[in-house]
Amino acid sequence: MFLRSLVSPLTAIRGIGPAVVPKLARLGIHTVAGLLCHYPRDWEDRSQKVPIKEFQRARVCTEITVIAHDWIGFGRMRTLKVHVEDESGRAVLLCFNRPWLEKQLLQGSRYRLWGRFYFKYGDIQSSAFETEPAVPGQVAGFGRILPVYPLSAGLTQAMLRRFTSRALEQYASALENELPDEIVERDNLFAKKAGIKAVHFPDSAEELEKAKKTLIYEELFYLEVMVGKRAIERRGGNVRNKEEGIRGGEGAGVVTESGVVNNVLQQRLLERLPFSLTPGQQGAVAEINGDMAHVPMAHVPMARLLQGDVGSGKTLVSFLAALRAVEDGGQAAIMAPTELLARQHAENAARLLEPLGLRIAFLTGNIKAAGRKELLRSLASGEIDIVVGTHALFSRDVAYKNLRLVVIDEQHRFGVTQRSLIMAKGDQPDLLMMSATPIPRTLALTVFGDMDVSVIRDLPPGRKPVKTHLAKESNEGKVYDFVRNELAAGRQAYFVYPLIEGGDEADPKDSSQLKAAVSMAERLADQVFPGCPLALVHSKLDEEKKRLTMDSFRSGEIKILVATSVVEVGVDVPNASCMVIEHAERFGLSALHQLRGRVGRGQDQSYCFLVYSDELTEDGKARLKVMLENSDGFVIAEEDLKLRGPGQIAGIEQSGYLNLGMANPIRDAQELARARVDAFAILESDPDLLLPEHRVIARVLEEAPPFGEVAL
Ligand code: ADP
Ligand code: MG
Repeated sequence: MFLRSLVSPLTAIRGIGPAVVPKLARLGIHTVAGLLCHYPRDWEDRSQKVPIKEFQRARVCTEITVIAHDWIGFGRMRTLKVHVEDESGRAVLLCFNRPWLEKQLLQGSRYRLWGRFYFKYGDIQSSAFETEPAVPGQVAGFGRILPVYPLSAGLTQAMLRRFTSRALEQYASALENELPDEIVERDNLFAKKAGIKAVHFPDSAEELEKAKKTLIYEELFYLEVMVGKRAIERRGGNVRNKEEGIRGGEGAGVVTESGVVNNVLQQRLLERLPFSLTPGQQGAVAEINGDMAHVPMAHVPMARLLQGDVGSGKTLVSFLAALRAVEDGGQAAIMAPTELLARQHAENAARLLEPLGLRIAFLTGNIKAAGRKELLRSLASGEIDIVVGTHALFSRDVAYKNLRLVVIDEQHRFGVTQRSLIMAKGDQPDLLMMSATPIPRTLALTVFGDMDVSVIRDLPPGRKPVKTHLAKESNEGKVYDFVRNELAAGRQAYFVYPLIEGGDEADPKDSSQLKAAVSMAERLADQVFPGCPLALVHSKLDEEKKRLTMDSFRSGEIKILVATSVVEVGVDVPNASCMVIEHAERFGLSALHQLRGRVGRGQDQSYCFLVYSDELTEDGKARLKVMLENSDGFVIAEEDLKLRGPGQIAGIEQSGYLNLGMANPIRDAQELARARVDAFAILESDPDLLLPEHRVIARVLEEAPPFGEVAL
C-alpha cells in the first residue's frame, strides 16, 4: 500500500469523530493519507534538558519544584504567579487567564516544565509554558521531540498529535516504499513507513533529519520522473538528460542581427522596425530559429519557454517566430489570456506584419456568427497565416490547415488542458511559451525541466528605471498632488485597487476598510482630479466596454485609468507615467512587479507609488521593501519565493503542479539536481519502467500519482 492510497475516511482513525472532520477538512485533510501528509511545520525539542539558568540559549526544558504562589492585580484581573526552581535557579510562571493552575501546580510538588523565558522586573519569567506532573514513566510531551502542526479553528496541537499518532499505529506498518530500493540503500534513507513515523514523532534530531531527507528526496525524485516522462512524450521517446536545461539568451548575444535572421520575412520585418533587436531578443530569436530549423525525418518540435521581464519585447520575438513558421508554409496561432491583451497583439501584428503581405486574423469568443464563420473558413483553408486570440483559438469548431507554431503568451495563466487543446489543433506544432512572471532559475529547472528556456535579460535601450516610492495611506494627498503635476504635463496615470467594490470579499468586516475601484473612481473624479477625463476598468465589465475604455486610454483621450489588477498583464501605453497602487500590501510581489511594469515604457521618467495601510504587518513591510529595492523581475521572483515558499509563487500555484509537502526546490537545489539525474537515468535506460527494480515507480504513477495532472 502506498501512502497516498490510504484514502479511508478520517473516521476510520480511532478517536476521530464526525465533529472534527469538518475542522480537519479546513486544513485540506480529508483522508488518512491527508492526515499523515499534513507534515509538521516545526518540531519542539523536549528531549534535551535546558535548565532555567540557560533560558537565553533555548527554550527551558527542565524539572522544577513549586516554591510559592502569589497573586498580582485585583478582582477579575487577578493573575496567578507561580514561583518555581530547579537546581540551576528560580523562575516565575505568569498564569494569565489560567487561574486554575493554582490547583494544578501545587506547592512543594515536582513538575516538568517547558517554555520560553525572558528576564523582566528582576525575574526570569514566562507566560507561555507547559507543565506536566513529574511522575516517572508518565511522560507525555516531555523527553521527546514533538511535532508542531499548522492548525485551524477548533483544533489544538494536542489533538493533531493524538490523531496522527493513532493513524500511524493503525496504518504505518502497511506502507510500502515508493523509492526504488537501490536509491534508499545508496543514500541511507528510511523505508517509507519508518520515514513517515519519524517525521511526525522522531526519537532524535538525527532521526528527524533522516526522515526529512527521505521525504524530500522522494518528492523531488517523482517530480523529476514526471518531468522526464513528459519530455519523452514530447520528444517522441527521447529524453535528453542535460544538466544545463537553461540557456540564457544573453549567452547567444554574440550573434549579430543579420546572423540571427536567416529568412526573408524576418529580414523584412527587421528592416521596417525603427529600432534594432536587443542582444537578449537576438539571442532568443537565434535559439528559436535553431529549434525551428527541423531536420526532416528527425522531427523534434520546439518546446521553448521565453522568459523576459515586463517590457523586454517578447511580443516582437514571437512575431519573428511566427514569420518563420509562415515562411515554411505553415500557420501560427498566438494565444493570450485576456481579450484586452489578445486585441493589443492582434493590432500590433496587423500593423507590423500585414505590410509584409501576411494575412492576420483576430479570434475571440465575442466574434459574432457571420464574421466568425468566414474567419473559420479561411483559417481552415490556409488563407490566414497568423491568428491571434484568446482561448477561442482552440474551440471545437476551429480547424487549421497547417498549424506549425503555437505561441502562448503569459503562459502561467493557462491550464494544462488548455495548452494541450491548442497543441492538438496541429500535428506536433512547435511551442513557444512566454512568461513575464519570471520563474527563478532554480524553479524553472523543476517546472519546465524538459523545456528549453531562453531568457531576455535586457530592456530596450533608453528606458529609464521606474522610480518607486512608498507612501502611507495617510499621506496619499501628496501622491495625488504629484500625479496632478504629471497629468498637467500631459502624462497619464493608473490607479489600481485590490477590489472592484467594497464588501465583495468573503470577510465584509475586513473589506469594508478597503478602498475599492468603483468608489474610488467616483472620488478621484469628483474630488481629487475634477475635470480630468477618467475611466474605470475591471473584470466585471463586458469586453466591448473594456475595449472602448482601453482604446481611449491608449489614444490619450482618457487620462486616468482606475482599475483592478486586470491591467496587470501586457497593457502597453507608453505615455502613462504614474502607477498608483493603493493597499499595495494586499498584492503579491509578482503582481506588484507586473503592475509597475505598465509604466516606464516610454522615454520619460515614470513613477510607481505603493500606498500602504497605516498598520502594516511585518510580512507586508518585507514585501514592499523588496519592491523598493529591486527592479529586476528575476530577483523579485526569487525574493517572492523566499518569502512565500515555492508552492505559492505566482502562476505556479494555479498550475497545481508544485504541491510539494516537504521539499523546497530553492533550498534543496542540490537534492533536486541529484533526483533529476536519478530519474532521467532510469527513464533513459527503461522508458516504460518494465524492469523489476523500476516496477515500483510505474505502480506509484498508476496507483498513487504524486502530483495529479502535470502542468506542463
Ligand atoms: P513584453 O516582453 O512585456 O511582452 P512588449 O513585447 O510588450 O514587452 O514590448 C514592450 C514595448 O517595447 C513595445 O512597445 C515594443 O514595441 C517595444 N520594443 C520591443 N523591442 C524593442 C527594441 N528592441 N527596441 C525598442 N523598443 C522595443
Ligand atoms: Mg507581453
